[in-house]
Amino acid sequence: MVKKIKLLKEIKKYFSGDVNSPVRSFKSVGMTPIIIKSGSGSKIKTYNSKTYIDYCMSWGALIFGHSNTDIIRAVRNQLSYGTSYGFTNNYEVELAKEISKALPSVEKIRFVNSGTEATMGAVRVARKFTSRNKILKFEGCYHGSSDLLLRTDNSFIVSYNDLESVEKTVKKHYRSIAAVIVEPIAGNMGVILPDKNFLMGLRNICNRYEIILIFDEVITGFRIQYGGAQIKYNIKPDLTCLGKIIGGGFPVGAFGGKKEIMELLAPSGDLYQAGTFSGNPISMIAGLKTLQKLEYADYGLIEGRTEYLCDFIENEAKKNSVDIQINRIGSMFSLFFINKKVYDYVSVKKQNVKKFKKFYKLLFNKSVLFSPSPFESNFISFAHTQEDIEKTIKIFSSVLRRIR
Ligand SMILES: *Cc1c(COP(=O)(O)O)cnc(C)c1O
Repeated sequence: MVKKIKLLKEIKKYFSGDVNSPVRSFKSVGMTPIIIKSGSGSKIKTYNSKTYIDYCMSWGALIFGHSNTDIIRAVRNQLSYGTSYGFTNNYEVELAKEISKALPSVEKIRFVNSGTEATMGAVRVARKFTSRNKILKFEGCYHGSSDLLLRTDNSFIVSYNDLESVEKTVKKHYRSIAAVIVEPIAGNMGVILPDKNFLMGLRNICNRYEIILIFDEVITGFRIQYGGAQIKYNIKPDLTCLGKIIGGGFPVGAFGGKKEIMELLAPSGDLYQAGTFSGNPISMIAGLKTLQKLEYADYGLIEGRTEYLCDFIENEAKKNSVDIQINRIGSMFSLFFINKKVYDYVSVKKQNVKKFKKFYKLLFNKSVLFSPSPFESNFISFAHTQEDIEKTIKIFSSVLRRIR
């Protein structure tokens, strides 16, 4: 405990807001940051030796759980051959091949070091290709922390699932719109599913006005199934952004798509984009191992566990007269304390945040770690056992009874 108190002091001294990434502050749930010592399988252990069943899983990056043996073995083996070369290595090729096989829309790819870099690259190359400047994006979607995608002066922002507004905006401004960027399944305002015709509608509008359609699949890529949302819904974006899972727990990002667009990147084109650690062998090998395992993995297993957990929560909430709405797809899910459907950012914001905070703390005190915000998704990995789920269910019973 002394150690932890000392650490907390130093954290306050060195880090703005006590963290290196905002949601980790636990401010959204009225708590203070937790400090992690280790992770193994479905569990995460803090510096003061508390163990939690982890449903955040490094924000979805760890589809095989913490320190998966196969991935660790592959990485450990590479370590003695070097960690970064600053030159091309064969694992970049292997991983590109694997991604392109799973996502045929990705004809050419560039590896970068984070999802933020991936979306920046995609937007820049779309601007170059179209000689247009603005982007159209959706309220509540997150595309990394670059000015390019956080600023509002260079973009049109409309509601997720609101195809009519897209149509209207594009009709009026298409001459200045380079790209439409969207999370094909939103995961950064909690899980929000696309309406039946939403993505196809976007594809049609983009075709009509020669706008680049960018799918930000940084979360959904290899999460909901092998490949991503574009395979599930059978819609081909012009550019795709990837990250999280394709790094197997190491820092990574990638953007790719149509050959003629990607060829604009230097050195074949004159849009300069570069990275010292891009395609480094550690991230590439970890990603490669992950995708190789996923190709033969039974996604039905993690989807089934997610369904089982969510169904239980829904029933238990009903029994206790707690208004809850659960959105889920594959192995990602969010719960909102609200009695109406949640389908865009406006409806997400109507949830009872006070109730969420209370719920979050109770859950946390019983050693279940959800993503620490009412505006994030939770993830079930292949390391989550039926026993983990049963344990979580028991805890939910007692927690839901107390937040009525
Ligand atoms: C996480 C995320 C990003 C940013 O990725 P980083 O690796 O954190 O920079 C971009 N888009 C989406 C959809 C994400 O979920």
